[in-house]
Amino acid sequence: MSFFKYQNGAMHAEGVALAAIAAQVGTPFYCYSAGALRAGWREFADGIKGMNASICYAMKANSNLAVIRVFGEMGAGADIVSVGEMRRALAAGIPAQRIIYSGVGKKASELMEALQAKVGQINVESTAEIETLNAVAGQLGVSADITIRVNPDVDAGTHAKITTGRKENKFGIDIDLAREAFALAGRQPNLKVVGVAMHIGSQLTSLEPYRAAIVRVRELIGQLRADGHRIDRFDIGGGLGIVYADEKPPSIADFMAVVAKETAGLCCELTFEPGRRLVGEAGVLVSEVILVKPGAAKTFVIVDAAMNDLIRPTLYEAWHDILPVRESRQDTATIRCDIVGPICESGDFLAQNRDLPPLAAGDLVMIRSAGAYGAVMASSYNTRPLAPEVMVDGTRFAVIRPRPTIDEMLRAERFPPWMEPAKT
Ligand SMILES: *Cc1c(COP(=O)(O)O)cnc(C)c1O
Repeated sequence: MSFFKYQNGAMHAEGVALAAIAAQVGTPFYCYSAGALRAGWREFADGIKGMNASICYAMKANSNLAVIRVFGEMGAGADIVSVGEMRRALAAGIPAQRIIYSGVGKKASELMEALQAKVGQINVESTAEIETLNAVAGQLGVSADITIRVNPDVDAGTHAKITTGRKENKFGIDIDLAREAFALAGRQPNLKVVGVAMHIGSQLTSLEPYRAAIVRVRELIGQLRADGHRIDRFDIGGGLGIVYADEKPPSIADFMAVVAKETAGLCCELTFEPGRRLVGEAGVLVSEVILVKPGAAKTFVIVDAAMNDLIRPTLYEAWHDILPVRESRQDTATIRCDIVGPICESGDFLAQNRDLPPLAAGDLVMIRSAGAYGAVMASSYNTRPLAPEVMVDGTRFAVIRPRPTIDEMLRAERFPPWMEPAKT
């Protein structure tokens, strides 16, 4: 079921017309459907029924406090990659015990804050981190529950910039070196090794890489137990794909069936860290057409959202579906166009060579599947204020992060004391 659809010719998020939000909030803005977030969560929660498993929302995909809160109220834990995200998770009401701290380069000061907050688990990714964390835990007089993230060297079959489980990627410890790392961790007085973690990439649309990786980690768990380690947890990571164009991502039920089959008899508590899958299709970016510039080869539709608002097309060659907010007639002839932002970069586009019904200045467009890695990756390049975020729930909507004013943006900066105050 889609939570974004045309009703009487106007695109709605649940029971709210996007044009009504635009009139009140201005464009561009991100819009999230709380119903879609909850439906996504339920699919996962149903998927793990009967399994010894838990779900930690990978909040780097969308870390708005209200979004985290929706999942937290349904029982989610959080997978974090920074102390900033930890503070967000706690502020949104996620209990510290349900927080997993991941990341390839955590600083001693960050590890200290995480231990002081009593996060439930730290996923360590290098031998250097094992030693640093042991020292920090010793200083605080606490014991840290850790898993070691291994790199199983499988090809996730996804875009190069979001593949994480190959030998040449910076993530995790090479699975061939994992036993030495576990031995090192086992010798640290202030660490308690509780399991193994993996995360092989993002936007996976096949289950085969998961199967291959789990088989490799399963063998490793056998060896580690033979070496005398207690391995109680297996953190499978995230990475499940969503629909941007015509992808056919596996259902959660099929995914869980593979996981259950391949981990049968392993006697591990499983952890899942979905990010994109929980939020991607639950969010859209709404933008207004500034002007249309017809060209010989194609038409440029210049809109008020840009690469600073949604960098995925520029960064990952990502394809996002774009729809007019006012429904066009079925028989309308389309025009080949590039949908671009106003930023001074040739890479500033949202879509290229797209056949769309004719658009005019003032029309609104909706960029689909923008709920993950959208607002969180935004910048204020060209002194463009961050696009606000709006949550819809049924027939209600609320701004969950307002657009900063230009004054607020300027106030965050200052002149060095040796400069004369600017004449205004
Ligand atoms: C990014 C990340 C995730 C979530 O990835 P998605 O593709 O958004 O599901 C999960 N675990 C770790 C360790 C990550 O870095």
